[in-house]
Amino acid sequence: MQKTSASLLSGQKLVIASHNSGKVAEIAEMIAPLHIHAISASDANVIEPEETGITFEENAILKAKHCMNVTGLASLADDSGLVVPAIGGAPGIYSARWAGPNKNFDVAFDRIRNELGSKPANAYFICVLALCLPDGTTKTFEGRINGTLVFPPRGVNGFGYDPIFIPEGHKVTFGEFDPNEKNKISHRSRAFAKFMNFLHKH
Ligand code: IMP
Repeated sequence: MQKTSASLLSGQKLVIASHNSGKVAEIAEMIAPLHIHAISASDANVIEPEETGITFEENAILKAKHCMNVTGLASLADDSGLVVPAIGGAPGIYSARWAGPNKNFDVAFDRIRNELGSKPANAYFICVLALCLPDGTTKTFEGRINGTLVFPPRGVNGFGYDPIFIPEGHKVTFGEFDPNEKNKISHRSRAFAKFMNFLHKH
């Protein structure tokens, strides 16, 4: 049977190092049964630091640590993106930046397609969550989903690179997936499953 309270963070506040209210609300709902109260980085007046890391893990830790240092509270941050091994792991940690300031993902799709040429189109989405506790302890949780890229993009659901990504074992892109179905198998949900498992055990 699953425990309904966690000893590690029970009764405490957890700052979600994100200014995305949708993301914070989703996380708040997930951890509420553990008697952990989620607040957003905006509520805690935390300004996002520059992401200077060169890996997803470094960037997630950097954001969680910054948030913990400013608030003195346990903090959780995430970093995610698309990795295409045949083009050196790009866009990787630069996934958001490849779409430019106007977040035009057609630009990013064209760039990947051009750089890829006839190279293998396998890719994966990755999400790393970093938890930083007030005593400085950090713990990371990684989720991945493998798949194949297709061009031109297909589907209007999801966001970012979803319309060019067909997850392994499926025939349609994440852009064509029902959002609830995507959430069941996504890199993000896999990382969160590990995080929740950790909380249930500690
Ligand atoms: P962030 O970690 O939320 O800042 O996301 C980084 C970037 O990775 C996003 O802007 C998207 O371009 C890409 N990305 C991360 N997760 C997904 C996903 O589930 N679908 C599509 N693109 C994603």
